[in-house]
Amino acid sequence: MTTADDARTLFRELTGTDPVGSWSAPGRVNLIGEHTDYNDGFVLPFAIDHRTHAALGLRDDARIRVVSTFDPVPVEVALGDLAALFPDRRDELPEWSRYALGVAWALIVRTGRNDLAGVDLAIASDVPVGAGLSSSAAIEGAVASALNDTWQLELDRVTLAQIGRTAENEAVGAPTGIMDQMASMLGRADAATFLDCRSLEAEIIDLGFADADLELVVIDTQVKHSHATGGYGERRAACERGAQIMGVAALRDLSVDDLDRAAELMDEVTFRRVRHVVTEDQRVLDTVRTLRTEGPEAIGDLLLASHASMRDDFEISVPELDTAVEAAMSAGAVGARMTGGGFGGAAIALVHRDRAGAVAEAATTAFADAGFTAPHVFTVTPSAGAGRD
Ligand code: ADP
Ligand code: MG
Repeated sequence: MTTADDARTLFRELTGTDPVGSWSAPGRVNLIGEHTDYNDGFVLPFAIDHRTHAALGLRDDARIRVVSTFDPVPVEVALGDLAALFPDRRDELPEWSRYALGVAWALIVRTGRNDLAGVDLAIASDVPVGAGLSSSAAIEGAVASALNDTWQLELDRVTLAQIGRTAENEAVGAPTGIMDQMASMLGRADAATFLDCRSLEAEIIDLGFADADLELVVIDTQVKHSHATGGYGERRAACERGAQIMGVAALRDLSVDDLDRAAELMDEVTFRRVRHVVTEDQRVLDTVRTLRTEGPEAIGDLLLASHASMRDDFEISVPELDTAVEAAMSAGAVGARMTGGGFGGAAIALVHRDRAGAVAEAATTAFADAGFTAPHVFTVTPSAGAGRD
């Protein structure tokens, strides 16, 4: 059984009828460019071969009902009540349902429509949750695609990505950037999405992993992060402070040459946060150039420099992520880094196909030696973005 079948089965259990169709959106791995998105900077994520599927059917009333394999208790509200629930009364809804219902709400707000048909949605996913692979963008993208087609809203993919972000920021209350949704919407096979988070201009960049016999190994540390709490908000605040001190709209407006001046103007911690973002933007640009001129085998040092910057300057790594990166490199990876928001989640390693087994084994052994929970190690393939199944 595929995950798309799981969504259809769940739909039948919910309604006793077949869905009219199913839509899906992938999770993503960010190859490089971490915590640059909300600083108006550059990122280079790719959609992965793990997806969230939403099977949809029409109702004869104007209500929306969602259910997920994640939590099989359905949640149902009138479409007309969504405006009252979000954002102020969102606590009345189970947290997971805010992602799906928040997308419906954001679509209604955006289009101003009050004549939309009621729907039932059943959701199933093989995107690991909380592992830094953006299961949140996957559920948002699947629901946004399903509703956009069903309600014939004809919004383009970039707009649907913005809808997902609005749902996540305002309906869920997680202050995330737009990278995840753009990657999930725009993905292509063996390619990454080079995104300017200010203009939202996106360019598809060939990765060339297949020709170079490279695989992307994900080492999920099993350490769960949470965006709604913890250090993420604090890092965002530090970035805003740094930009304000430097008199720019966003850290994107600084270059590596501005760092000496930044060091003189701000406290040491804020400076290191700023230095991470400014150098990370440069590493994304360098990675795109290197992929084009030399190919994927040449980006290893950039991945490693990104990890060091997150560990030492942005301070969002954890011992499990550092151990995963070190183990991957000791087993012959081309490069490795933590990926995602930090404080847990996954590391990625770019690895020659014949070394993938050795990298997995090295990570598992290193985690056992350190007394950590065993990591979940798997490979991902750069894949197509959201759409109808
Ligand atoms: P991630 O790094 O996986 O995106 P987030 O904390 O941003 O982590 O989002 C995870 C949350 O998204 C889950 O806790 C849940 O509320 C919601 N979610 C993700 N996938 C599903 C799903 N298939 N069904 C229901 N809720 C989901
Ligand atoms: Mg997320």
